[in-house]
Amino acid sequence: MISDLEKKVRKLDIRQLIKDHLNIELEPVGKKGQLKCLCPIHNDTKPSLYIRSNNTFNCFGCKEKKFGGNVVDFIKRLKNFETREDAVLYLSEKYNIK
Ligand SMILES: [Zn+2]
Repeated sequence: MISDLEKKVRKLDIRQLIKDHLNIELEPVGKKGQLKCLCPIHNDTKPSLYIRSNNTFNCFGCKEKKFGGNVVDFIKRLKNFETREDAVLYLSEKYNIK
């Protein structure tokens, strides 16, 4: 079950989230609104992290543990949070979401 807080947090723009947490370029790719960038999780040499216009992402380079999902999945993995709740709480505090 998804908490009300997580529903709100999920509306954060993943592109803004990436800009706020990582010093990497987002470049347009293919279809309108789609972006790609270097993956912060694996040792990426050419951009293999794709950000879709529906505010989700996935990495084609992270082989062992698949890296993909929504903003909560992104931050959970980036910050090594143990639970989704920890990631939701972090985001709600950082972006002042209640
Ligand atoms: Zn990756």
